Amino acid sequence: MTKKDIKNELEYIEKVKNINEGRNLKYNILTMGCQLNENDSEKICGMVEKMGYTKTDEILEADLVIYNTCCVRENAEEKLFGKLGEVKKLKEAKGTIIAIGGCMMQEKHIVEKIKKSYKYDVIFGTHTLQNFPKDLYNAIMQNKKITDILDIDGEIIEGLPIKREDNIRASVTIMNGCNNFCTYCIVPYVRGRERSRNPEDILDEVKKLAQDGYKEITLLGQNVNSYMRVERERGEAPEEINSFAKLLRAVNEIEGIEKIRFISPHPKDFTDDVIEAIKDCEKVSKFIHLPLQSGSTKVLKLMNRKYSKQQYIDLVEKMKNKIPNVKFSTDIIVGFPEETEEDFEDTLDVVRKIKFEQIFMFIYSRRVGTPADKMDGQIPEEIKHKRFDRLKDLYEEMLKEINKEYIGKTLDMLVEGYSKTNKKLLTARTDTNKVVVFEGEDSLIGKTVPVEIISEHMWYLKGRV
Ligand code: SF4
Repeated sequence: MTKKDIKNELEYIEKVKNINEGRNLKYNILTMGCQLNENDSEKICGMVEKMGYTKTDEILEADLVIYNTCCVRENAEEKLFGKLGEVKKLKEAKGTIIAIGGCMMQEKHIVEKIKKSYKYDVIFGTHTLQNFPKDLYNAIMQNKKITDILDIDGEIIEGLPIKREDNIRASVTIMNGCNNFCTYCIVPYVRGRERSRNPEDILDEVKKLAQDGYKEITLLGQNVNSYMRVERERGEAPEEINSFAKLLRAVNEIEGIEKIRFISPHPKDFTDDVIEAIKDCEKVSKFIHLPLQSGSTKVLKLMNRKYSKQQYIDLVEKMKNKIPNVKFSTDIIVGFPEETEEDFEDTLDVVRKIKFEQIFMFIYSRRVGTPADKMDGQIPEEIKHKRFDRLKDLYEEMLKEINKEYIGKTLDMLVEGYSKTNKKLLTARTDTNKVVVFEGEDSLIGKTVPVEIISEHMWYLKGRV
């Protein structure tokens, strides 16, 4: 594990702060994509606030606008270009600084297009986050456009300031990159190869969060349960905590933390030691995200997922036998190239058998630069949408039944705050990530309390303390 010393880079935070002294500057940030990007944005906000900017949700007020981009979904590019079109007027009117970072900036054709057709000041990539203060400083002082992209895999960066969005739940990135090369996915090309953070750094971060009153931790990574695998193979892993199972056990020991979740794992890396650790660690959630992607062995092979339909079902059975009350959520892609009606039926079959508590459903969309984009047998949009609707109908039908099973149960839940849609109600989530709303005193926020479920409403449950 190479850990980069970023002392020099961090000095630029102070330099920008000096330029900004007494100017009451504001920034606005838009984060696209997954929780890893959100965690990166928390680091960007941490740096930017130390540079003297305060956050605003109103883009018109902003002196600095930051887009932290994602390139996993098809419409992300149109969304970014739309935003850059809108912010152009702001730049012309008041000289707003425009910074664009994240996964999409690792795609050469996107960067070229921005350079050719849009206004910007700083472009930074996934491996150059720590350079952002320096890039911003140079853009301001030299009044020129800065592009700071690295193609090689970034080193592990520790010590960036962070401004967390929540004060009860926090995400902690434990590894970066991915070596799996699923044929539909752009992540290995834009986030680089797998590299794991040192366990001591992770544990220190979690301990600090516990001291600050955080109760729930989500361990993040593109392939979280292969933590330290590459380092083990190279003989570079530490002696003690050298696997995901051991990391889970170590985080479980940290006082003050009440719940530990993790995303995203890969079914092929659910080794017996990980299953045992989930069973043994009382704080580790028994709600497991297990991305299926397709129920057809043929499609799974085309996707390069490295498991078959039966192996996936067997894994779920094994976990059900070992971990009492384990429940699952999943991701499913509909309409992958070559998917026949029979293949799609295989997906529905797995959904019926496993009864997922939550399904994240996606219609396959082509991503430039991935092997699946060049595959024959692309499925017509109409068929993809019809299959998607059939899967959705099945899921909703099953969800009603699953939700009914909660009624009358009393579950211990961490009260997270007020409901987003009704500020008079409090909100919490079941271990299975279902939102529960109920009446209660403000003083319950941040505490774990028993809540009885009294009714179900498809996407949320109602309860009483
Ligand atoms: S495991 Fe597959 S889907 Fe997940 S990030 Fe890696 S390549 Fe992408």
